This record gives sequence, C-alpha cells and structure tokens, in this order.
Amino acid sequence: MKRALLNIDYTYDFVAPDGKLTCGEPGQNIEQAITSITREFIEAGDFVAFAIDAHELHDSYHPETALFPAHNINGTKGKDLYGALQTLFQEHQENENVFYYDKTRYSAFTGTNVELKLRERGITELHLVGVCTDICILHTAIDAFNKGFKIVVHKDGVASFNQLGHEFALEHFTNTLGATVV
Ligand code: ZN
Repeated sequence: MKRALLNIDYTYDFVAPDGKLTCGEPGQNIEQAITSITREFIEAGDFVAFAIDAHELHDSYHPETALFPAHNINGTKGKDLYGALQTLFQEHQENENVFYYDKTRYSAFTGTNVELKLRERGITELHLVGVCTDICILHTAIDAFNKGFKIVVHKDGVASFNQLGHEFALEHFTNTLGATVV
C-alpha cells in the first residue's frame, strides 16, 4: 500500500509561545516527534505534503475571521513552520516528493490539489501529523475518510490547546473514521 504524510499547520503562529493562535506547550512538546516522523517519510522517498493555513491580512469574508484572531498571514513569520520542522523542510524543499500547499480552510483538501497528487501516485494510505488534533487534523481526516483513503494518525505527532478536544478526536479517528492511531 502506497503511503503519504500530510503535515498540517505546524507553524509559528500555531505553536510558538507568542504565536497568534498557539496550541501552547502541547504543540511545542511534539516538535521532536513530528520532525522525526517527517524525516522518516522523506528519507523513505514517500510523498510528503506540508498543508499550511494561509490567510490574507484583511479578509472579512473568510469564515474564520469571526472565530479566531488573525493568524498565518501570508508573508509573515507566523506562517513559517516551527522550530526543527522548518529546518528539515528547508533542507528538503527541492525534493520531488516534498510538497508545500497553502490551504484556505481547516482541511488539507480544501482549495489545494493535494488529492490529485495523491491519486496520480496511487497513494491510498494517509498518515497525519500536526495541529490542532480536533480542528485541522480532524477536518482533514473526515475529508480523507469520505474520499476513501485509509487513515493513520500519529498520536505523538498531533496536539491541541484543548486536551478534551484532543482526546475526543483521537477516539473519533478510531471509532468513526476507521483510522489506525499509532
Ligand atoms: Zn486559519
């Protein structure tokens, strides 16, 4: 079974202590794990997609505007990947199997061509890491389920500011989306 890694929203704004919409310590605590999982996929030659929230500074029409403070604004450091993951990405961004997507909603599938890239390669198993477990990971997993992909969620590679939401999502992946949580 061909596999891919979707690496979601592990950016300065979502992780750093002074990020605009930070997960805080739970996010910072997965830095080593998310980086080593990503390195393993890159070194194995698997498809790796960074699917990263991208917002305009002024966008009153965007549905997130009423819900959250401005975050991951195009052209700001808040949208950079966080910590060791940014370094790893910079080392491998020329790799033909490493892709970077600006996504416009919670799900990695919304407003991107990531599904086409996966289908072209015959990839059927999607591994998910990043933040937040109960928002962008969850919405991506639901889309992946509806599109017929097998889902694997790396427990040590996901985090949320909301511990209850994190635990709910991990159960939902397993019980409702048929995911494997490893
Ligand atoms: Zn957003």
